[in-house]
Order: sequence, then C-alpha cells, then structure tokens
Amino acid sequence: MIDSAEARRTNIALLIDELVDANHILFHQNVVDGFGHVSARHPERADRFFLSRSMAPALVRSADILEFDLDGAVAEPDGRAVYLERFIHSEIYRARPDVAAVVHSHSASVIPFGVVRNAPLRAISHMCGFLGEGAPVFEIRDAAGDGTDLLIRNRALGAALAKSLQGAAAVLMRGHGATMVGTSLRQAVFRAVYTETGARLQAEALRLGPVTFLTAAEAAAAAQTNDAQINRAWDLWRVQARAHAGTPQKDYLRE
Ligand code: MN
Repeated sequence: MIDSAEARRTNIALLIDELVDANHILFHQNVVDGFGHVSARHPERADRFFLSRSMAPALVRSADILEFDLDGAVAEPDGRAVYLERFIHSEIYRARPDVAAVVHSHSASVIPFGVVRNAPLRAISHMCGFLGEGAPVFEIRDAAGDGTDLLIRNRALGAALAKSLQGAAAVLMRGHGATMVGTSLRQAVFRAVYTETGARLQAEALRLGPVTFLTAAEAAAAAQTNDAQINRAWDLWRVQARAHAGTPQKDYLRE
C-alpha cells in the first residue's frame, strides 16, 4: 500500500515533469525564446506554485524547478537567481483561484495587438475560441507612469496586471508581450500556442479586408469543444519537443 505522503510526493514529481515538458514545448512552438516562463500551482497548497529558476525555458530540467509563495518568494531559498517577473505568476494565482497554470511570453505575433488601439486580439478561428470578443490589454503607464522598463518586477505591478486580466484567458501587455492562464497546465500551454497562432492569422486577415470574427456564442462553444481535445495537441507537441536534438533524452528515460 502506498503511504499518502509518498503518493503526494509522486503527484508533485509528475507535475514537475509536466512543467519541464511545458517549458520545452513552449520553446518548440515559438511561444518563448530565451525569455518567457511557465508556472503551475501546487496541487495541494493553493498558496504555492512551481516555476523554474531564471534561465531559458528550453534548457529547464526538473532540478531547476523552484517552489514559490504568493509573495513571489522562494519557499526554500538556495541562492539561485529567480525570474524578475515572477510577480506575474504570484499575483495572478492570488487573484484567480480558478487558475492552475500561467504562461508569460513575448511571442512576436502578439505584440502588435498590444500596441495598436482599436485592434483587439479576438477569436478569428475556432482554435482561438478562448479569446472570445477580445483579449484585454494591460497598460503599465496606468499603474506606474512613464519610465518603467515594462517589466512586472514587483507585487503592485503583478496585482495591476491581474486586475487587467480579470476573468479572461489571456491579457496582452503593451509593448512587452502577453500572459495566458488555464485551469490546467496543458490548457495554459494550449492557449499560449493558439494566442500566437491567432495573432498571426488575424494580422494576415486584416491586410485582406474586413474580418468576420467568431461571435461570443461561437467562441464559447468552440472553446468548450477544444478543452476536451487538449491532450491530442499536448501529446504531439511533447513528442516533438522531446525528439529535438537539443533535448537531453536521458531525463525522460524514467517514463
Ligand atoms: Mn516579460
């Protein structure tokens, strides 16, 4: 019989393995590059989450994953550098009890929709249904005035970003990037990939002429259908990420 403490440790180890895969998938799907990050809320402690130490996502291993509290502090500090923008994660977990995972990226196609007024990023295809009638845009000047470096480098800025996100799946950050959330790690990754894809498609469509977007009802129905299909994409993306030459295969032998 498996002791419950043992079962918990296994549970957490599996989540950390999945978080490592999420880091690699986001790189291979062109959502993150040397920058950007992904976190997962602790499955048993709502006031804790897991996030890599400060490093390029494609290079993250399970030993790089640290546990944080909702103030953005490492639970057991060991001197390793942490992401400046960890407050994106901590404050969204604080504000949104439904959120189990957060992705922050600077993915290129999304940036234009954060800087052009009256061009909201909307659901242009069924795969982007979660965007609904438009992703909110966070304007850091409203929170901290002129002269910031655009980074969410403290709790107050994280709280302001979470306020802009409200109940949405994604929030664009003017002149910076975007942050996507999910009720699971896989859903947050799925949304991050299709936020980038949707932005690319919307920019192309806008050059052709007036765009017919999904209605709110269509977007909601499509999002619900897609939520039941996430593992299909995840399985493919994970195989691709693990097969990549730069990925140390030995880390995956235990599966
Ligand atoms: Mn950033």
